[in-house]
Amino acid sequence: MSHEWKIKSVLIFVVAAVMAMASIQFYGHRRYMIPIVSGPGVTKVVKLSEYYEGLKGTMADTNVFYLEGKEEGGKMLIMAHTHSNEPAAMLTALIFLENAIIDKGTLIIIPQFNNSGGRNTKPGDGYPLYFEIKTDWGSKKFRMGNRNASPLDQWPDPDVYIHYPDRQLLSYLDVRNTNRTWPGRPNGPLMEKVTYGAMEIMRKEKVDIALDIHGAETMFPVTNCIVAPEKSIRIATMTSLTVKAREGFDNHVEPSPSGFRGLSHREIGDYSDTLPFLLEAPLPFLDQPTGPKTVDLLLNGKDPFLLSLSKKGKLFVPYDETGWPMEKRVGQHCSVVLELMRQFSRKFPKRAIKVSNVPRYAEVVKNGVGHYLQNPEEADKDDVYYN
Ligand SMILES: [Zn+2]
Repeated sequence: MSHEWKIKSVLIFVVAAVMAMASIQFYGHRRYMIPIVSGPGVTKVVKLSEYYEGLKGTMADTNVFYLEGKEEGGKMLIMAHTHSNEPAAMLTALIFLENAIIDKGTLIIIPQFNNSGGRNTKPGDGYPLYFEIKTDWGSKKFRMGNRNASPLDQWPDPDVYIHYPDRQLLSYLDVRNTNRTWPGRPNGPLMEKVTYGAMEIMRKEKVDIALDIHGAETMFPVTNCIVAPEKSIRIATMTSLTVKAREGFDNHVEPSPSGFRGLSHREIGDYSDTLPFLLEAPLPFLDQPTGPKTVDLLLNGKDPFLLSLSKKGKLFVPYDETGWPMEKRVGQHCSVVLELMRQFSRKFPKRAIKVSNVPRYAEVVKNGVGHYLQNPEEADKDDVYYN
């Protein structure tokens, strides 16, 4: 063998070894299941495919948890992990799922809405594959997902995504983004089937109010806010004013633009009787000018580049050396969800929804997120759901 061929062989072997190692890691990540303990309020668990059977057997199918009170009332749908790289949303959904007691009405919770996105990653940005939350009984490991569904589940992408039914031209990537594929259709791409399934829940179950929980860059103006269309804006405004006065944190209201299609806060309201709201908490991890995308940055939101940009007035949220820790983001989401529920119930007393045993902002900041997560090892096996 010539000298040149020896070097080539070694290089081919090294590249193949790196590819094999990465494949094993990505395969393990895609198959890793997160245990969820159904708490005292959960009365039934179904699959999204019960509402649209075209999802059955696909990676896009996901668990839908029902928490039904003894007393009839209104219905609220909570969706998290529309973007699976915004994990405060899922942790908020889990706090409700694992703790809430329903005194009146019904909560329907989909903690991993874009289940395919939750099994995708962003290697080009150096995303961590997992992160852990410290709890009172050890730590709980979660998959870190991506904004878009995995191309393994929906492929190929078009050159341009033509939104259905408005025919607005969107980025090709948005065909895998479940916050651009609303209201969806049964015979569209897989992610349109996911949003169609959720629309079917809202129409069939007569859901009064739907919340889509997210996180957004600190350099993006639509952050730390409630996005609401005209029909929801009064309840959003009362919620924003109340959490500011009573709990001391800012969460302004952004009107949902009517000319930008495919978004949950726009299409849900236009295609059903449900009142939609989209919740954003600041997420420094998503900002572009940061250091490496580490688990620490994801959990504590501390970054020296953002700190210097904040001093130059470039951020849309207050930012100091304390960053934006997970407990602050999840705490805000918990309080905003509870306050939206209270404001809706005041306006529509016959459709009231009353929930107890869910912490508010100050409690989550004080005790940490993990304090409210149940230990799947100690729970009854029938109460643990994997997703
Ligand atoms: Zn998002």
